[in-house]
Amino acid sequence: MAPVDALQTSADPTRAIALLISLTYLIAAVLFIVGLKMLSSPRTARRGNAIGALGMLLAISATLLDQEIIAFRWILLGFVIGTAAGVWLALAVKMTAMPQMVALLNGFGGAASAIVAIAEYHKLLLAPDLRATDVVISIMATVLIGGVTFTGSMIAFAKLQELMTGRAITFPAQKTLNFALLAAAVALSAWLVVNLDQPTIFVVLTIISLVLGVLLVIPIGGADMPVVISLLNSYSGMAGAAAGFVLHNNVLIISGALVGASGIILTQIMCRAMNRSLTNVLFGAFGATSTVGAAGAADRPVRTVRPEDVAVMLGYAQSVVFVPGYGLAVAQAQHSVKELASLLEKRGIDVKYAIHPVAGRMPGHMNVLLAEADVPYDQLYEMDDINREFDRTDVALVIGANDVTNPAARTDKTSPLYGMPILNVDHAKSIVVIKRSMNPGFAGIENELYYNEKTAMLFGDAKKMLVAVVGEISRA
Ligand code: NAP
Repeated sequence: MAPVDALQTSADPTRAIALLISLTYLIAAVLFIVGLKMLSSPRTARRGNAIGALGMLLAISATLLDQEIIAFRWILLGFVIGTAAGVWLALAVKMTAMPQMVALLNGFGGAASAIVAIAEYHKLLLAPDLRATDVVISIMATVLIGGVTFTGSMIAFAKLQELMTGRAITFPAQKTLNFALLAAAVALSAWLVVNLDQPTIFVVLTIISLVLGVLLVIPIGGADMPVVISLLNSYSGMAGAAAGFVLHNNVLIISGALVGASGIILTQIMCRAMNRSLTNVLFGAFGATSTVGAAGAADRPVRTVRPEDVAVMLGYAQSVVFVPGYGLAVAQAQHSVKELASLLEKRGIDVKYAIHPVAGRMPGHMNVLLAEADVPYDQLYEMDDINREFDRTDVALVIGANDVTNPAARTDKTSPLYGMPILNVDHAKSIVVIKRSMNPGFAGIENELYYNEKTAMLFGDAKKMLVAVVGEISRA
């Protein structure tokens, strides 16, 4: 019998509701997967997001039908507080603060899963007849992963928000201590699976998980932070999936597994983009050393230009590649860059955008910004594709990008950026860099590109400078 027929004919309303919930969860899971797939292309991403949200609406609505709900008032209170906080954050948080926001959300996800596991442990303590080995194992896994995710994400948030140093914090025998704590947590979990009536040990396990989260993230710093954020995102998914096993809730298992898997895939992609292994990111303590190469910046001359000079250079070019970076986001110059691109195109100049996978402060940051200004997707080139073009490019216009163009990444073994693939901007026939000063970028190191004889520095806010260049070209 089809589930719908079963629903109509079932005489037992409890069974009918359980069936309806399962069916809705199945539809929600399919919507999550379709939505996620559509997020992989900028063309379909908006619809994918809406489809995923619809899946979540269905999943939440079905969960509200659950017979085990005793009172709705707490759910309603949580709903009101959560919605208010969500709306406020969505409106107030700037695009440049998105990584911190994601860190917070990961942390809350981990905390929610851990709290569910703690509540279920308490329930099992009082009701020995409800104990099942699979549920007990899931409770321990949820507390461990959820606890690590919570405090790890809070440290990541504090680092990115500059509430504490963003550099790596290391001390002797750090790795040994981390491994010892992890081993202790696993041993205590195993002990509790065999012997559940040990609330003190459960409290110790929870504390160890929280401490481990802090210790695992403090030795990570600098440019490795985005990798850690996506790894913590994956952990929050795994904690959610484990909580799904605790509650026997299929949609939580599926959605948690989707977040866990996509987070780990993103982590891998970012590690590859920075040419670092995950082990190296987690245990390599990048950023512990201070600004390599920053000394002497003031003594070396650079060539400076004015907007009118850049307008002339662009006017004579046949091909121009825009290289956007974090400064473009700070200046909110995406519309101005689009305006300049349109103007150049009208004059028959070929225009492309070079997108580095870790430009800006979050994965896909440049794509999102440029999409906001309606830059056509086919003008956006990924690193490997555009790097083949720079030799034939007349002007590379670097707009608030720094680390992703730093040639030290290729040659200087002492540089923290060494090994990270960069945009080969220095291969272009001429280079213009728009930034406000000689200050370094995220990694805190000097950029040799600025001293290249082909490079001209246009000092100023990216938006103001682009508007000025557009004005000069329009007047010409
Ligand atoms: P970057 O190396 O951080 O450099 C940005 C540059 O923009 C700075 O040198 C700054 O110089 C300039 N700038 C800031 N405000 C500006 C404004 N209003 N107008 C003009 N210029 C402005 O940026 P990036 O080249 O995009 O590299 C990204 C870095 O962030 C990498 O090291 C990456 O690993 C790291 N990171 C990436 C992510 C991610 O997921 N994408 C997340 C976290 C960290 P002035 O101050 O002189 O203007």
